[in-house]
Amino acid sequence: MVAEVLDGRACADSIETSLGAELATLAESGITPHLAVIIVGNDPASHVYVGAKERACARLGIKSSKYELSGDAAWDEVTSLVEELNRNDDVDAILVQSPLPNGMDELVISELINPEKDVDGFHPHNLGRLVQGRVDGLLPCTPHGVMKLLESAGVELAGKTAVVVGRSRIVGMPQALLLGCKGADATVTVVHSRSQDIGQICRRADILVAAVGRAEFITADWVKPGAVVVDVGVNRVADESVESGYRLAGDVHPEVASVAGMLSPVPGGVGPMTIIMLMANTITAARHRRSR
Ligand code: NAP
Repeated sequence: MVAEVLDGRACADSIETSLGAELATLAESGITPHLAVIIVGNDPASHVYVGAKERACARLGIKSSKYELSGDAAWDEVTSLVEELNRNDDVDAILVQSPLPNGMDELVISELINPEKDVDGFHPHNLGRLVQGRVDGLLPCTPHGVMKLLESAGVELAGKTAVVVGRSRIVGMPQALLLGCKGADATVTVVHSRSQDIGQICRRADILVAAVGRAEFITADWVKPGAVVVDVGVNRVADESVESGYRLAGDVHPEVASVAGMLSPVPGGVGPMTIIMLMANTITAARHRRSR
């Protein structure tokens, strides 16, 4: 068996078309959503991600502003900028690119962002709504993108066994909540670094989501034949045969394609979905704020 490809690019393109229509309606009321992105330091991968977000805004006609602070910026400089953007009525959505330099607490920054402008969905208010099963607000972009990808592929979740490998605040935990919430109705197990017999747990999964941050961690013998496997991982692996000296690898071993029923590629799977859900959240934030 060769797994069907869960094509994130195609899915994101089709969502982009519907967002274009939504933006045209907003434009009729004189509304152009505005996303402000703060990036601190010179992490090359972060600059690549921010560039992709800016390009998506430009394609869609969403206004974007980028605030670049040096890696040795003072904590107060970052927090003052967030507070200034909170107050700026022209700004609908604020994103602080992760990771922040050592010593800067991302949790504190998440709490500082006005929940109405919290386009990452990481503010306790927005994560709390998700815990309550309210999925109509600003949801974390990557897990929300995974849900949209599964939906577009027609994957039935109700009553199915889902396993999420990873329990981070930004991917694993919200992913588990979304898969298990009313309406999605999967039965969810979350696996982490202290879990035992991970392979055995993964093998029970009808839907397996890998968000570990370890290259090719999920091997073919951990996957139930025919399972739907979503690979969230983006890992740089040294590779002398390419000019950059590294290649991108997911958390799922390529051999899984011979066992799974569906598999998302890296790149071209969850990555484009994350960006398009960021665009969707920016539009949602603008619509909510400006319709009052
Ligand atoms: P993270 O914060 O480092 O969390 C990793 C999770 O994996 C933790 O819960 C950790 O467990 C668990 N884990 C680590 N080693 C493990 C092991 N040996 N066995 C079982 N569980 C283990 O990472 P993240 O931010 O969630 O990101 C995960 C991956 O997704 C990364 O590769 C990241 O680059 C990628 N990502 C991709 C996108 C995208 O748009 N495609 C977006 C976000 C993240 P503990 O909690 O016990 O430490």
